[in-house]
Amino acid sequence: RSGFVGIVGRPNVGKSTLMGAIIGEKISIISDKPQTTRNRIMGVWHGDDFQVVFLDTPGVHKGKYGINDFMLNTAFSVLSEVDILLLVVEYWETGGQEFNLLLGELRSRHRELPPVFLVVNKIDLAEDKHEILESIARQKDLFDFAGIIPVSALNGENLDRLKALIVEQM
Ligand code: GDP
Ligand code: MG
Repeated sequence: RSGFVGIVGRPNVGKSTLMGAIIGEKISIISDKPQTTRNRIMGVWHGDDFQVVFLDTPGVHKGKYGINDFMLNTAFSVLSEVDILLLVVEYWETGGQEFNLLLGELRSRHRELPPVFLVVNKIDLAEDKHEILESIARQKDLFDFAGIIPVSALNGENLDRLKALIVEQM
C-alpha cells in the first residue's frame, strides 16, 4: 500500500515537527520563526507493508500587504494530490483570520477533498485534559472532519493513533 498525506495549517503550529515525528527523522526545517518552510518538502515514511509520502506545505500567511496569494495557492495546490489531509492547529486555537481563511478554503473545496483530519497539536502544553476536550468541542462542528486527533508532535503523545489512522486511509 502507498499514498500521499498533505499537511496544512498556519505557520508555527507544528506541521514540520509532526511530519518529522511520524517519519522518525528530521527532513524539514524546523524553527521558531514562522514561514521557515517556504517550499513543499517531501518526506517518505516507510513501513513494513506501506509507504506514505508527506507533502509539507507553506503556512497560510497574512502579511503586511494582505494575504500572500502565492503561498495560499501553493498551500492548496497540494489538496488535489493527496489521499488524506491533516489540518494542524494548536489546541488553544479559537479561530483567527488565518484559520478562518483556511477553513473557508476547505469548505469551498470540500467536494474535491480527501478525508480531512483535524490534528490538535501541542497538548503537552495543556495544564489539564479539560482544556483539550474544550478545544475539541469548539472545533468539531467547524468542518465535516473525518476525525479529530489531539497530539503532541514534540513528545509523541497519541502519534501512534494518528499513524494508524493514516495507514488505514492508504
Ligand atoms: P510549522 O511552521 O507548522 O512547520 O511549525 P514547526 O514544526 O516549525 O514548529 C514550530 C514551533 O512549535 C517549534 O518551536 C516546535 O518545536 C514547536 N512545536 C511543534 N510541535 C509541538 C508540540 O507538540 N508541543 C510543543 N510544546 N511545541 C511544539
Ligand atoms: Mg514547517
